Amino acid sequence: MSDAADEIDPQALEAARRVIHEASSVSVLTGAGISTDSGIPDFRGPNGVWTRNPEAEKRSTIQHYLADPQVRRDAWQIRLDSDMFTASPNDGHRALVDLERSGRLHTLVTQNIDGLHVIAGNSPDRVVEIHGTVHRWECVDCGARGPMGEALDRVRAGDPDPPCLICDGILKSATIMFGQSLVTADLMRAEIAATEADVLLAVGTSLTVYPIAAMVQIALESGRSVVIVNAQSTPFDSQATVVVQGSASEILPAIL
Ligand code: NAD
Ligand code: ZN
Repeated sequence: MSDAADEIDPQALEAARRVIHEASSVSVLTGAGISTDSGIPDFRGPNGVWTRNPEAEKRSTIQHYLADPQVRRDAWQIRLDSDMFTASPNDGHRALVDLERSGRLHTLVTQNIDGLHVIAGNSPDRVVEIHGTVHRWECVDCGARGPMGEALDRVRAGDPDPPCLICDGILKSATIMFGQSLVTADLMRAEIAATEADVLLAVGTSLTVYPIAAMVQIALESGRSVVIVNAQSTPFDSQATVVVQGSASEILPAIL
């Protein structure tokens, strides 16, 4: 399931453990790689959804989604079968719950839309879901929102592209698609998290999706330590305090 290499460098592991244990506060940025061991594929890893099918990127682009009813019908069918609604947290998510219980978690910013950090037990008020959540629907016209199960029930009942019951507008999942702006308040929390905590721990993210990858740059400019845990190299590896390559579900329990 994991894209990770099987050998984890013990020296890097020990260095990461030391940096984190010496910190009084830790901010965390997670990406799709923390959830691959829960059975949810990432986008850009070797088995990523887009690596295997570049067309799939269209379903995550707001212009295509709004312009093409077929893109929406496909998206609803894929949501019906999505692993995101049945997946369970793994040891990587659970290690971040332990970090919060130790009182040292400043903020957990996630690019993931699977909700697994909160399901694992991190408090919703410590978690910033910077790209939104698949667990709710929203209307692009009137802004109405509700539980995703409601919309999926309508698809199952035979409506392949269910419109908003209030304004007849287009419904989507409450995620930030490509072409949409992030929520300003969430971005500000991410920036504060990168500036204030002693350490920024980036986990399972290719650090190529902006503006959120800039958290690493901001932390470095603020003189903070940066620990990167990822299966593949990232553009920030040469500047990080410590890089541990391998699977997040193995590494996080060992370093936290
Ligand atoms: P990405 O696909 O760009 O990168 C994921 C990274 O995780 C890759 O570099 C890969 O090598 C690494 N990785 C894979 N398995 C790993 C493991 N077991 N341990 C450690 N690292 C592992 O993902 P991204 O940078 O998070 O950005 C893609 C966007 O796609 C996100 O913004 C998110 O909104 C969305 N997305 C979310 C989910 C989810 O919610 N689970 C899944 C796919 C995509
Ligand atoms: Zn509406």
